[in-house]
Order: sequence, then C-alpha cells, then structure tokens
Amino acid sequence: MASMNIRSGDTVEVIVGNVNSRGKRGKVIVVDPETHRVVVEGLNLVTKHRKPRSAQEQGGRFEQPRMIDVSNVMLVCPKCNQATRVNHVLGDNGKYLRSCHKCGAVIDARAEKKQTRTAKAKGTSKKSKKTQADEE
Ligand SMILES: [Zn+2]
Repeated sequence: MASMNIRSGDTVEVIVGNVNSRGKRGKVIVVDPETHRVVVEGLNLVTKHRKPRSAQEQGGRFEQPRMIDVSNVMLVCPKCNQATRVNHVLGDNGKYLRSCHKCGAVIDARAEKKQTRTAKAKGTSKKSKKTQADEE
C-alpha cells in the first residue's frame, strides 16, 4: 500500500494537464486515499448541471472541483517554494515525516485532521504478560 504524500492543507502544483491547469497551484482540500485522488481548491472546476433526483436534492448548477489523481500534482515545499518530490525521514517520535527532496526541509503534518483512527490506545502501556512460570 503506497501511502499518500499529499495531505489536506498542502499546497500543490499541477504538473500535468492542459495549458489552463498545468503549473497552477492550490490548496488541497480533500484527499481520498482509496482512489488516490485529491481535490485542489480553485482548480479543475467543473460546472455541473444537475436535476433533482429526490426530494432533498436541489437541482441547478454546481461549481464543483473535480478530483484529480495524486500523481498529477506535486507538493509545493513551504520553505523553498518549489514543487518537489517528497522524502520521508524518521522523526524523533518514530513517525515518518515528510521532507522536501530539494531543500531537505521537514514538512510537518500540521494540517492533519482528526482522522487519526488508531492513534490512541496504542503503545501507552503495553505490559508484557509473560508468564514467569517456566523460568528454570
Ligand atoms: Zn524545499
């Protein structure tokens, strides 16, 4: 399972696509790890015309950012302001941090959401319940 280098809150640069979108930068607002797609703010807007299909749904026009594949964007380093590949460095807490391939700056995950599912209850006090009965 390849992990996503891009997280929501990151600034990314579009590296593929037509003249209108290539080289554009924007903030990642949605990340979908399942499909490896992201939504970049203000980019790839498509206007959808939708008919109401149910009572709750409103018809009309929606300006909706389209998801683009994560491989179509590159992370923009906050330090050197270049679109860069992401390196992973092992941080003090044993977690991998992202770092800029170009300037080496660590790009922390401050924009991380509350979606850290199994963050707690792990590793707090893992007492070994080893039975000492069979010693000697
Ligand atoms: Zn950098």
